[in-house]
Amino acid sequence: MVPVIALVGRPNVGKSTLFNRLTKTRNAIVAEFAGLTRDRQYGEAKWQGKTYLVIDTGGISGDEEGIDAKMAEQSLQAIEEADAVLFMVDSRAGLTAADQMIAEHLRKRNKRCFLVANKVDTVDPDLARAEFSPLGLGDALPIAAAHGRGISHMLDAALGIFASDEAEAEDEEAEIVAPGQEAKRIPGPSEKDGIKIAIIGRPNVGKSTLVNRMLGEERVIVYDQAGTTRDSIYIPFERGDEKYTLIDTAGVRRRGKIFEAVEKFSVVKTLQAIQDANVVIFVMDAREGVVEHDLNLLGFVLETGRALVIALNKWDGMDPKERDYVKTELERRLFFVDFADIHFISALHGTGVGNLYKSVQASFTSAVTRWPTNRLTQILEDAVQEHQPPMVNGRRIKLRYAHLGGANPPLIVIHGNQVDAVPKSYSRYLENTFRRVLKLVGTPIRIEYKGGE
Ligand code: GDP
Ligand code: GDP
Repeated sequence: MVPVIALVGRPNVGKSTLFNRLTKTRNAIVAEFAGLTRDRQYGEAKWQGKTYLVIDTGGISGDEEGIDAKMAEQSLQAIEEADAVLFMVDSRAGLTAADQMIAEHLRKRNKRCFLVANKVDTVDPDLARAEFSPLGLGDALPIAAAHGRGISHMLDAALGIFASDEAEAEDEEAEIVAPGQEAKRIPGPSEKDGIKIAIIGRPNVGKSTLVNRMLGEERVIVYDQAGTTRDSIYIPFERGDEKYTLIDTAGVRRRGKIFEAVEKFSVVKTLQAIQDANVVIFVMDAREGVVEHDLNLLGFVLETGRALVIALNKWDGMDPKERDYVKTELERRLFFVDFADIHFISALHGTGVGNLYKSVQASFTSAVTRWPTNRLTQILEDAVQEHQPPMVNGRRIKLRYAHLGGANPPLIVIHGNQVDAVPKSYSRYLENTFRRVLKLVGTPIRIEYKGGE
């Protein structure tokens, strides 16, 4: 499971600055889900090759009454859902009453918490440590988020306990396929789980209904346990000869109880399920069309590189004009995930649900097939012959050979000269060529260049 780190602290201590540094150029998801009023950001980051999620929880000022009023419901939830909290304070401003209140709250929650003293470019780090020791949260980790100082030491402290064999397993997956070796399908992260499918979407689009449909029976209602809003339910099952595990982000709700409806929707849970899946079934409500939140979430799915199948639900009872409109909208707004199959379904009536499995299998196969080096190199050579890469400084860019560097998503590593100068448009051309020739569906492709020789 991907670790989740929450950045907590009053406004202006430097949370956004740290967030941006950790997530680098990766697009942050700005959460604007129903029930979320705060301006919060979610992002993916890497530490020692391992992925983790960062949440910027928005500022907690010291002016409101009581800690509960100060942190919006969703901000509190983010702290609950995090595996560790980075509690940021401002070394330049020194210790404030708001810092003390936040510290008290975190202590009560009994969270793994790391005190981080930011802006130590303006004060002596030792002074900063002394300044914040009354908070009773141990020695502050000194950083300067704006200048990148102290960051790796801080991450070692906060993420060290999550280091595991998972990182090694990832390396193994990236093993190179020798020339001439047959392409073979490799299983997902673990053979016994089969294809891991995450059912993702905003509240009320029909995820639970779809889960029930896909399993072919009304499921036993599982009650939410205290403090486990972040955990999805994993349901292993078989269909035909294929093994699957459904990652159900919606089923933990108690049906018919309004109080559990919207507020149990959890962005963290959704993001973790995406990370943990091989294939994401992204559910949208045809009656609402594509909304901004869908685009945010889809952007995240794309970034993780998971295989993707899109399900337009509630297609029943829509008149032809509405349907045409929705289809046009989809084409216009979902161009960035045009590799994904789109299904028009009714989870309620079961229409189109069986076909989802076909797309799930096809996209999984595309995502994890091991293409041999000679095959990829042949495709590269043909592509280069058809369209030469441009000249740079009077010399033509040379692309020599290609091999597979990873699966789910497929990573194609291309070796050559002056590869830093390969234009984006040419990479897109190569990507499209690989996609077409290998008949890849439902998965993004990554292309990486290696120079030298
Ligand atoms: P947030 O409200 O907690 O998200 O804080 P921001 O990230 O917006 O930062 C608040 C201010 O502090 C901005 O003007 C930043 O440029 C500044 N800041 C952030 N990190 C540092 C740092 O390491 N050193 C200094 N001197 N200023 C910083
Ligand atoms: P979730 O929050 O995404 O898990 O959504 P639910 O599965 O709880 O569904 C929300 C509402 O939409 C419920 O009232 C469902 O009966 C209804 N619903 C789900 N799928 C369909 C569908 O295919 N057609 C119609 N008309 N309603 C549906």
